[in-house]
Amino acid sequence: MHGIPQFEVPAGAAATVKIIDTTSSLNLVPLGRLLEPPVHNVNHVPFLPVYSYYIESSDGRKVLFDLGTRKDMHNLSPSVYNRLPTTGWELRVEKNVIEILEESGYQGSNFEAIIWSHQHWDHIGDPSTFPDSVKLVVGPGFKDAYLPGYPERADSPILETDYRGREMIEIDFSESHTLTLGRLPAHDYFGDGSFYLLNCPGHAIGHLSALVRTSTNPDTFILLAADAVHDMGEIRPSEYLPLPKEIDLHHYGYPAPCPGHLVEMFQDSRGREPMQPLFIPSTAESLSTARATISKLQEADCQDNILAICGHDNALAEVIDLFPKSANHWKAKGWSGRIHWAFLRFYIPAFLSGGRG
Ligand SMILES: [Zn+2]
Repeated sequence: MHGIPQFEVPAGAAATVKIIDTTSSLNLVPLGRLLEPPVHNVNHVPFLPVYSYYIESSDGRKVLFDLGTRKDMHNLSPSVYNRLPTTGWELRVEKNVIEILEESGYQGSNFEAIIWSHQHWDHIGDPSTFPDSVKLVVGPGFKDAYLPGYPERADSPILETDYRGREMIEIDFSESHTLTLGRLPAHDYFGDGSFYLLNCPGHAIGHLSALVRTSTNPDTFILLAADAVHDMGEIRPSEYLPLPKEIDLHHYGYPAPCPGHLVEMFQDSRGREPMQPLFIPSTAESLSTARATISKLQEADCQDNILAICGHDNALAEVIDLFPKSANHWKAKGWSGRIHWAFLRFYIPAFLSGGRG
C-alpha cells in the first residue's frame, strides 16, 4: 500500500450542505454503457438516483449544485428528448427541485445561483422555474460548446429558456483566485474557503465537481463528484484505499460480512489488480481525461476527513440524512464507514462465483 497523498486545503469557513433526493432516477441502463470491464450475469448498472445539493455559506448565501431532471421531460431539447426512448432506460421524475424546496419553506429567490455540473438532461433541471435574479454557473468551455440553446441552435442539449434573462457565468480556472487542491484546480466560490468548484472534465466538457467544508477545527469535507463517476466502483478500491478484509454491508440488509478476498478473486477474473477500482468509465466526452480526473479524485477520496459521493450515488438513501436535514455531521455520525464499500453489494453473486457465474 502506498502512502496517503497530500491533499491540503487552506483554512476557511464551513458551509451547510443538504443533499436533495430530486425524485428522479434512471433504471435499466446497460452496464457497458457506463462501465467496464463487464460483470458476468449483471446486465444493467444498479438503480441510479439523481441528487442535487443545497449549499449555504456561513453568511447565508445560498446556491444549488445541479437540479436533477425537469418534470416536463417532453420540453427538453428535441435532440435529447427524441433519443431517450431509444435507450430502453426506465426514467422517473416526480417533482422539480423548486417544488421540493418550496415544500420546506424556501423560495427560488432565496438562491443566488444554480451551478450545473455539466449539460446532461438529468442534471440541468428547469432553471426557468427560478427567478431571473438566480445566476447560472457552468464550467470551462461550456458556452462555446453548447450556446446558443435550442431552438436557436437545433442540436444544443440545453434550452434558450434555461439561461435567457439571467446572468450566466463560466468559471475560469486560470484566474487569479484559482488554487489547486491536491492536483485539482479549484475555484473558491464564496471567497471564504467553504465551497470550492473543482475542474473535473472528461465525462463532459467543463464538468465540475465540488468540495464543501462541512466543519472546521477539525476540518471535514464532502466531495460532490457529480458525474465524474457513476458508480463509486470507478474510484474504489485504490492504491490509497485498499479493500478491507471484511466488508460490512449490514446497513443494506446483508447480515454476514463479505470477505475482501472474494472481491480480489473477482477482480483477478476480470483482469483487474486488487488495488484498482472495480470499473473504469466506458463512455465519456474524453475517456483519457475522465480517467485522469478520477485518479485526481482518488487522492481526495482516501482522506479520512473527506466523504466522496457521486451524483447518482445509490448508497446514500439507506444511511445518511437527506434534505431538508443537513449532511454536515457525516463524520460524527459514522456515515463514511457505512457507505464506503456499499457499491459492492450489487456484485456479491459475481464475487461468490469467482466472477464466472
Ligand atoms: Zn448523470
